[in-house]
Amino acid sequence: RFMSRFNTSIFKTAGLGLVLTLLAIVTAADPDDLAPLAAVALVLTRAVSYGQAVQRGWHSTVEASAWIDRLESDLGQLDVARNDVVSEPTRTGRGPVTVRFDDVCFAYVPGVDVLSGFSHTFAAGTCTGVIGPSGAGKSTLAELLLGLRRPDTGAIVVDECPRHRGIGSHEIAYVPQEPVLIRGSIVDNVIFHRPWITHDDVIDALRAAQVLDDVEAWPDGLATDPGTLGGRISGGQKQRIAIARALAGSPRLLVLDEPTSALDPRSEAGIAATLAGLSGRVTVVVVAHRPDTLSPCDEVLELDPAGDDAVVDVDVIDVE
Ligand code: ADP
Repeated sequence: RFMSRFNTSIFKTAGLGLVLTLLAIVTAADPDDLAPLAAVALVLTRAVSYGQAVQRGWHSTVEASAWIDRLESDLGQLDVARNDVVSEPTRTGRGPVTVRFDDVCFAYVPGVDVLSGFSHTFAAGTCTGVIGPSGAGKSTLAELLLGLRRPDTGAIVVDECPRHRGIGSHEIAYVPQEPVLIRGSIVDNVIFHRPWITHDDVIDALRAAQVLDDVEAWPDGLATDPGTLGGRISGGQKQRIAIARALAGSPRLLVLDEPTSALDPRSEAGIAATLAGLSGRVTVVVVAHRPDTLSPCDEVLELDPAGDDAVVDVDVIDVE
């Protein structure tokens, strides 16, 4: 880059020098010889600008080649990682888990606790809602449940074992606020690069997510590429396909982060019905703020940053 800056000015100066030299020659020359001189001047001026373009192209190529090497090595590493991940986990068939938070403290910045002395039991097979204003720690709680963060102090106990022994990562599923459907069929979307998931698992998961009837009503049924449906696939259907994707792996714990925040009331009611249907099969924790989404919850935790030190108060709201 440094050199190319110099080269630009060198080319400009050389070009200007050539034109001036030619002008001097033209002035001194016989006017009869002007035509060939003008042609030579034109060719030289063009040559300078083409030379500059070639030189710029060369520099971009040299610069990009370093990134191409980097991309190749990153892709190589991803391939290795993919081969590690895409192997069939042992199916434990152990059913929903009980997750207990014992006096858990967590802070991103030392001294500013997001969760402080948080204790709660997410009982097996229940659905727990988590509500609270923005910044209250809902996503942090979800990340602790998912095992993406570890408590600073206190313990997370799963079925009376330390968290890492009580549940494997493949037994936990997460549904984000706005799931992304991939190009391919609905079946591909549910299997989602887990080749051990069978066609029957896909059907069961779509049924449990209460979207099987919708999918079968599309002209191409299970072979439909959601990308080709355009506006004919609703946000609620997308979200339920994402829930089916989560359920196909037979999770023991399902965490959903604001699954209905972008949906209309009808789709929201559909998601609530889906969650209600999971009762007893999987332990569900749903971060939400809309009352209808919380209707299938057995209990609702309200996280409330109290005071300047953002210590969270937890209220358990009786849903009844
Ligand atoms: P919610 O999901 O309820 O909006 P979060 O769990 O995202 O709340 O955040 C809780 C608090 O932790 C907020 O004060 C937020 O600013 C802070 N926080 C969240 N993520 C980080 C992070 N990666 N680094 C530092 N602070 C964070």
